[in-house]
Amino acid sequence: MRALVFDGQLHLETSLPIPQKQNGDALLKIRCAGICNTDLELMDGMYGFSGILGHEFVAEVIEGQPDLIGKRVVGEISVVCGHCDFCQQGIPSQCRSRTTIGIRRYPGAFADYLPLPPRNLHIVSDRITDDQAVFVEPLAAALQVTEGIHISPRDRVVVVGVGKLGMLVAQVLKLTGADVVGVVRREKQAKLLARWGVPAVELRDLPEQSADVVVDVTGLAQGFADALWLVKSRGTIVLKSTYNDFPQVDMTQVAVREIRVIGSRCGPFDAALRLLERDLIDVNSLIDGRYPFDEAVTAMHTAAQPGAMKYLLDF
Ligand SMILES: [Zn+2]
Ligand SMILES: [Zn+2]
Repeated sequence: MRALVFDGQLHLETSLPIPQKQNGDALLKIRCAGICNTDLELMDGMYGFSGILGHEFVAEVIEGQPDLIGKRVVGEISVVCGHCDFCQQGIPSQCRSRTTIGIRRYPGAFADYLPLPPRNLHIVSDRITDDQAVFVEPLAAALQVTEGIHISPRDRVVVVGVGKLGMLVAQVLKLTGADVVGVVRREKQAKLLARWGVPAVELRDLPEQSADVVVDVTGLAQGFADALWLVKSRGTIVLKSTYNDFPQVDMTQVAVREIRVIGSRCGPFDAALRLLERDLIDVNSLIDGRYPFDEAVTAMHTAAQPGAMKYLLDF
């Protein structure tokens, strides 16, 4: 099969064996996949990754349980043990021996085929296009912000770092009725946010300590410092970023101003599918371009350009 591999260098393999299925796994044939910032960060050395990249995808089940065969599916990215304390409590995303599709010790979805346990799969209804379905994983991650904190319609919420994921976070938070603004650096981001009624501002336009909730989606160490500057005393900072550097901030402020800092990772796929089905989230506007999978290396480099939104790979 074809697969996009990173092993210090990025290259398209054309005759790799199909990854081995575990007992009971379904075999998926990938239809379309999306390039995420995490893929680009892995290429920059995060987690010392080596292997097949990719974790945002829609696929067709070609082998496995009879009721799944031929179905279009998306897949949760944590492949878990099913019996540790977290799995037992229904928190598989924190499984003690989890592996993660295309990120940690599990092959990625930038490949013709991917085996996955049936419990990872969610069937995609006919009302959702392949392009939309590719956004289910990041949309679920955006929804996870609202699992970690209570957001009231009275709250002022600032999203810092409105890129691919930040755009989804902003739309999700807008649905809560809160007063949401996005901190942007480019005209393109401001135009996109305007479509959903989210004002775009520059950091310097906002008063210090003015936000009840700040969501940091920058992926930059500076993002946490900016969030700390923006958040009110007793406010909340939600981290949607994984940082390549260590944030340099005065942690005493976190203690003295009684700031809550909440990490946020994978979210509910079923809710993400429902929001897309009901057209409550616009993902099509986030697609900047698409490439046939054979041109995946070029696609990755294009997607890494500053200000790029989502690039899709067609199989
Ligand atoms: Zn991602
Ligand atoms: Zn587990």
